[in-house]
This record gives sequence, C-alpha cells and structure tokens, in this order.
Amino acid sequence: MDRLNPFKIAQEQLDRAAELLGLDEATHSILREPRMEYHFTIPVRMDSGETKVFKGFRVQYNNARGPCKGGLRFHPEETIDTVRALAAWMTWKTAVVDIPLGGGKGGIICNPKEMSQSELERVSRGYIRQVGRFLGVTKDVPAPDVYTTPQIMAWMMDEYEIIMGEKHPGVITGKPIQLGGSQGRGDATARGGIYTVREACKLLGSNPAKATYAIQGFGNAGQFAATLHHDVLGGGTLVAVSDSRGGIYNKDGLNPHKLIDWKLKNKQVKGFPDAKKDITNEELLELPVDVLYPAALENVITKDNAGKIKAKISCELANGPTTPEADKILSKNGVFVIPDFLANAGGVTVSYFEQVQNTYNFYWTLEDVQHMLDQKMTNAFKAVYEMHKEKNVDMRTAAYLVAIQRVVDAMKLRGWV
Ligand code: GLU
Repeated sequence: MDRLNPFKIAQEQLDRAAELLGLDEATHSILREPRMEYHFTIPVRMDSGETKVFKGFRVQYNNARGPCKGGLRFHPEETIDTVRALAAWMTWKTAVVDIPLGGGKGGIICNPKEMSQSELERVSRGYIRQVGRFLGVTKDVPAPDVYTTPQIMAWMMDEYEIIMGEKHPGVITGKPIQLGGSQGRGDATARGGIYTVREACKLLGSNPAKATYAIQGFGNAGQFAATLHHDVLGGGTLVAVSDSRGGIYNKDGLNPHKLIDWKLKNKQVKGFPDAKKDITNEELLELPVDVLYPAALENVITKDNAGKIKAKISCELANGPTTPEADKILSKNGVFVIPDFLANAGGVTVSYFEQVQNTYNFYWTLEDVQHMLDQKMTNAFKAVYEMHKEKNVDMRTAAYLVAIQRVVDAMKLRGWV
C-alpha cells in the first residue's frame, strides 16, 4: 500500500519541512532522493550444500556533512524503499545530534531466524565482498540494526580487512568490545531515548520515577529501555511488553531483568510467569500509560489507531513507527511525541564515538561515553524543543527543521546548491 510505503512517508515528512524552510527546488530535490545506491546479489553456500542467492542493498543518502553512516538490516520483508527511508532518516539523525556524518542504510533480504551461524557468517562476508569497495571511514560506515549483531559486525570487519590487507577497525561500528567496539554502544539507542524522556518530563512537569511505561518490541532497544527507564530515571512501573509473537500485561509491574532472562531463554515474552494477562501488540499501543516506547518496526501507529493512543509521551525508539496521518491525530490529542530520529539517535552517536576511538586507537571509559552521550542527546532535545515552541509545529516537524537546515547549510557551503 502506497500510503504505508516508508520512503513515500519520509518524502512527505521532508516536503513539509522544505515548505516551512522555503527551500529552493534544487535543494529540495537533492534531499528527496538518495545520492547513490547499490543493488546486488550475494550467492551463499548453505549448510545443505545448495547455493542460495540473496539480494543486498546499500543506500548512501546524503554525505554533505560527512561520510555516510547507518545500520544494516537482515529481514525477510526488506525492500529498497524501506532502506531508502531509513537512509534518509539517518541523514536527519546525524544532523539533529550534530555529529559530522551523513546518512546511509543497507540490508539483505533474508530470514536470520531460519539460518545457522555459519550461513549468517557467509552471507555477511558475501555482503562485504560485493559492497566493501564503497565502504570505509572516509566513505560510508555500517552498523547493526534490526536482526544484525556485534558478531555480524566482527565478520564484516574481518572480511573488509582481508580484502584490504590492512587493519580498518573504523569501517564498521557496533563491534564487540574485544575488536574495537566502544563501551556503552550496546545500550546506547535505549539510553539516548531515556535521556530525552527525562528532558521531556522536566518540561511537561511530570515525574518519570512515578511513570507507568509500556514497550512495543523487545529486541535490543526495547530490552535496554525496560531496565534503563527504571535505572536512569529512578523508578517507574513497566506494565506491558510485546514482541512479534504477542504481549503481556501486569498493572502492578513486570520485573524487567527477569523478563529479559525469560525472553532470552524462550525467544518470546508470552508465557512469562508474572504476567497477569496476554495482550496483543495493538492493545499494548492503546494502554493508558505515561510513556509508550514503540521499539519495533515501521507503521505501527496509523490513522486507524492513533485516536486510541492514550500515552502522554511516545518515545520512538523504532524508526518510522508513526505515519504522517497518525502524527496529525496524536498532535491534536496532545500526545507528546519524541520523534524517531531524535529519540533513537543515541545508537549512532556512540557509533560515532566508536569511530573516533578507532581512529585515535585510544579507548574511553564507560563513564566518559555515557557523559558525552547525555550531552549530545540533551542538546539535541533542547534544540528541537525550542524549535517546536518557536515555530508552533509538532516535535517531528521541529526535528526536521533543525536537521534539514544543518544539511542544507553544508550543501550550500560545498557549493552544491
Ligand atoms: N541502526 C541504528 C540506527 O538506526 C544505528 C546506526 C549506526 O550506529 O550507524 O540509528
């Protein structure tokens, strides 16, 4: 359905910001399309002995502010338009937190849940053999995203270094610590989001330590948000969690640590002994909680359910969870949205710190990383909030205005437009 095509949505969001900023046609059209994209096939010998051919993509959306940066997704329903949208959002994300990088994204159409470790390793190395020559610290640096892990980053870095015949730890981020990964990268996406919730609560006059919260999606971002809301904000009650197999609810609270152990063992949250009842993903989104964390995939809050969202704050740890039609409804109903490319920018911020450490070949403490992440997220939140007040636009549009202006300034200074 065109209305739910993530790239069309990304373009529509951009168009609104372009109009408010009064962008000229050339500037607007550069920002509307990826500057470069690669499509390729990856033949992989499966454990059975047969060869399967996977489709891979890398989109380099815009590099006016620096080398492209963004994750890689391994997903059975990956499409080029999803990758394009995600690459556009990476461009705005690196700009809103003001790190000197552009935006990119990549992916492989595959189902990692059905693949062995050795098949995953071969598909990961195959990806780098196809696209490695277009990657590098000065060109484009991938990282983890949905269903990709530090182990996958390690194989990819290794393949790249074998091809180049020299060490290039900064070619990819989100690596294991032993191979040049950064302290604090693992929980950075969720942690950054929690810092923005803290700032939002200050401005809205609410106490996050007394808040109820629900999490839709229980992968990397969702799991860390479950514990960090509690640990960083000094309390709060986790009342509901869901994953792709369904959700659970307990109004008296679910213990996040126990629930993570359960999920790791059982691959789902359902069946967790302390749950009072099962709920669907849809029901979870409509719970009357103080903070909702959409932390799964795109298009979960649409015009069909936006009117039923009762959360006071929606902190978008996922990319693209809310459609433009839903945005209008949420804004009218006074739901305070911390938009995706602001809320989840902590991941790429610590990826940037990782690259800096790789280049220096000198590594920082966890305390240093978290302190600098807090500064970046807090400054970005404040810049967006000020724009929201000054221009009387919703938080997403405000984030676009801040980010696009920075990208446009860089394009102008380079003489592109
Ligand atoms: N995949 C993450 C994101 O969407 C992180 C990207 C990165 O670290 O480069 O922001």
